[in-house]
Amino acid sequence: MSVITTIGTKCKRCYGCIRNCPAKAIKVQNGQAQVVEELCIACGTCLKQCRQGAKVMEEGLSTAKELLQRAARVALTLAPSFVAAFPGVHPWQAVSAFRELGFGPVVEVAYGAELVAGAYVELLAQDPQPPVIATACPVVVNLVEIHFPELLPNLAPVVSPMIALGRYLKEREPWLSVVFAGPCVAKKDEMKRPSLRGAVDAVLTFGELQELLDCAGVDMAASAPAKPDPPHPWLARVFPVSGGLLKVAGVAPDVLRTDVACVEGPERCLQKLRALSGGNGHARIVDMLFCEGCIDGPGMAGGLALPERRQLVVDYTRQFRITTPTAPDGRASTGRRFSDRRPLLPSAGDEQLRELLGLHYDFGPEDEIDCGACGYPTCREKALALYRGLAEPDMCLPYLLRRADHRLADSAEQLVQMRQELIQSEKMAALGQFSAGIAHEINNPLGAILLLSASLLEEIDEDHPSYGELKTIVKETERCRAIVADLLDFARQSRLRREVTDVNALVAEVVEVVTLTRPLDPVMVRLDLDPQLPRVSLDAPRMGQVIRNLVNNAIDAMPGGGVLTLTTRRNDRTREVVIDVHDTGTGISRADISRLFSPFFTTKPMGRGTGLGLATALGIVRMHGGDIRVASELGKGTQFSIRIPLVQHQTNPGEREANAHAQGQDPDHRRRQ
Ligand code: ADP
Ligand code: MG
Repeated sequence: MSVITTIGTKCKRCYGCIRNCPAKAIKVQNGQAQVVEELCIACGTCLKQCRQGAKVMEEGLSTAKELLQRAARVALTLAPSFVAAFPGVHPWQAVSAFRELGFGPVVEVAYGAELVAGAYVELLAQDPQPPVIATACPVVVNLVEIHFPELLPNLAPVVSPMIALGRYLKEREPWLSVVFAGPCVAKKDEMKRPSLRGAVDAVLTFGELQELLDCAGVDMAASAPAKPDPPHPWLARVFPVSGGLLKVAGVAPDVLRTDVACVEGPERCLQKLRALSGGNGHARIVDMLFCEGCIDGPGMAGGLALPERRQLVVDYTRQFRITTPTAPDGRASTGRRFSDRRPLLPSAGDEQLRELLGLHYDFGPEDEIDCGACGYPTCREKALALYRGLAEPDMCLPYLLRRADHRLADSAEQLVQMRQELIQSEKMAALGQFSAGIAHEINNPLGAILLLSASLLEEIDEDHPSYGELKTIVKETERCRAIVADLLDFARQSRLRREVTDVNALVAEVVEVVTLTRPLDPVMVRLDLDPQLPRVSLDAPRMGQVIRNLVNNAIDAMPGGGVLTLTTRRNDRTREVVIDVHDTGTGISRADISRLFSPFFTTKPMGRGTGLGLATALGIVRMHGGDIRVASELGKGTQFSIRIPLVQHQTNPGEREANAHAQGQDPDHRRRQ
């Protein structure tokens, strides 16, 4: 497992870790950034950078505590920067405090650096093939093994000071346990590498070491200063400062010499490795530290600025030289092996990446603005990450903004439409009540006029001078009655009386009745009824009225003849039963389509239409929770589709309204009382 892991739920999608990760070892999955173990170089940049604390390093405290409890002797090997991590006290007060925790011996890792420097001197004496990458930094080793394996032959096969000292101590005291403390997170990874395993038993950052002190209640300031244990180093204490390692090996860099290069900092290291990989540069030896010297490591403590830390390390080197009474023999096995750990990642060509951007974002080359909001410096690099499954499409800010704009526009449009529908339905309700009121008032006097005029007409002969006028009175009164009947239909909002209905039978019955009541010729009627149609719970007489209105309109639209087709079908996707009424008549103009369902909209001549048929039909279908759709082409014909949901909710909103209305204010109900 990687020494740096992610707490998924804390990730706030700022993509800062992707932006800052020098190895691009972050994968975004379900919107959460995660460390990809195979690509991670354990540099700890994301630990420093993530403000949400979504990245955590592997802890070493529990192993260290267990060793202190169980092991006979536990050595603490201290990276030289400890003087900068615990400032404000004498360096040797810190050493005493660590002894109080139970560590012993407490040894300076700088001695390991002296051993390593010796190994470098020997290596360089053999005139190896240049350039030699000489580094004590595990992050640089990871970078080469994972991302630049072509440079593996250039890595000096020498261990780091931590490993050299661990081996030195254990070679002399095999049962000794060794805990390393330093500013580096990658050391936690280094100690587990196959060719180095066993030299060190636990790695603590200085931050963790401070925690250990706090837990045990040890106060450094109260400890009496006491020297570290032998073997004692001297000059090698500067190795955490850039160029320190070469200085100890006697290969000091010089501004006038270009064959020895010291490189530090993530960006410069990457540049140098790219250059070396491309065969550029003529340095014989390159010393590399991934941070700005180890004193800039992510596990540093003490809160000092970088120049102050550097000063403290240099001061300590110069002022605290210990003469060793019995000089230890300065040898340990310092050799190591490296391995090619580059993961197999699919690669894609420019054309493929361009296509990918087009596919996901509808991007053309002009849209590739390389804004960097996704964490990748260019749109192409982001596309490559997408291709490799390391990124998700939703990470693109310009794309998200554009999509949000569209959605906003859509919902604004929907809002306007809903508002219009609301106003319309309020108007309908008011109009319905109004019409019902008038219709009731007119119906009775109209009945009287019709009764009296009809009986008068029966009493007089056809040659009577008033016969013609009286006949007109009867005819017009009958027309008024028909209009009033339509009005009452439109206004009626009585409770639905649902029953499980065979829709096919209902359609056939309506067609039969219409055929009996009006001459269809020259219209041809076709029925195309789905025999598998499920039965539906509906108010059969009122749904019959809807079909009748549509059929009558269709016949009206085909004065010169045509074909009327009634189809029933089941729509599995929307879970509806659909009745299509299709004609080959005049068709409806675009302008009229929007007004079709408004009450009193008619194009028929006086006396032929009231414009209430469709308004009434829509009202009834909506009460069933359904809808009526229309498609029409001028000169070709029209199709109305009645859509009734298969699953009836207890009561749908339209029906509920109508039922409430029926209980309180239904005109029929009032009349019955
Ligand atoms: P009416 O039939 O009394 O005119 P409707 O509400 O039933 O009232 O119909 C309104 C108008 O819609 C009709 O006058 C006609 O212009 C148009 N219309 C309805 N159905 C059709 C159809 N199948 N073909 C062409 N126009 C139609
Ligand atoms: Mg009509």
